[in-house]
Amino acid sequence: MEQTETGSPEETEALAARLARTLAPGDVVTVAGELGAGKTTFVRGACSALGVRERVTSPTYTIGHRYHGVGGDVSHLDLYRFSAISAAEWGDLEPYFDGTIAFVEWPEAGAGVLPAPRYVVRMRHAGDAHRVIEIDEC
Ligand code: ADP
Ligand code: MG
Repeated sequence: MEQTETGSPEETEALAARLARTLAPGDVVTVAGELGAGKTTFVRGACSALGVRERVTSPTYTIGHRYHGVGGDVSHLDLYRFSAISAAEWGDLEPYFDGTIAFVEWPEAGAGVLPAPRYVVRMRHAGDAHRVIEIDEC
């Protein structure tokens, strides 16, 4: 387990970019943490490093986004609205994992249903613009 503290959104994006460069299609990264912890900021930095040119925004009110990156597609899901994933819902989610690098915010509802993650990221507030970021490689 690697634990880092960042002092700005830019530092969080840079940390995510370093992790992103180790990823390949098929990899799943879960990003957990309370509202405002910086999950979307982290995914934005990762997407940028993967060559995504579109603006990465929170998919809280949709299931997810699928972006074009340089080495393939990159998905960004947010399971905030889910308490559990039914088989029918998994049918809607599955295409986001097909041949992509996938980032999943609020992954708790997907436990046991989503493909096993390559990295588990946990973020929490540490005062002002500081965030503690734990990264586990599975
Ligand atoms: P989440 O997706 O976890 O709800 P967001 O990434 O949408 O969080 O929002 C995090 C907010 O906190 C943004 O406004 C961001 O600019 C701010 N912020 C301040 N410091 C940091 C930091 N060190 N890392 C990430 N975000 C930070
Ligand atoms: Mg978010």
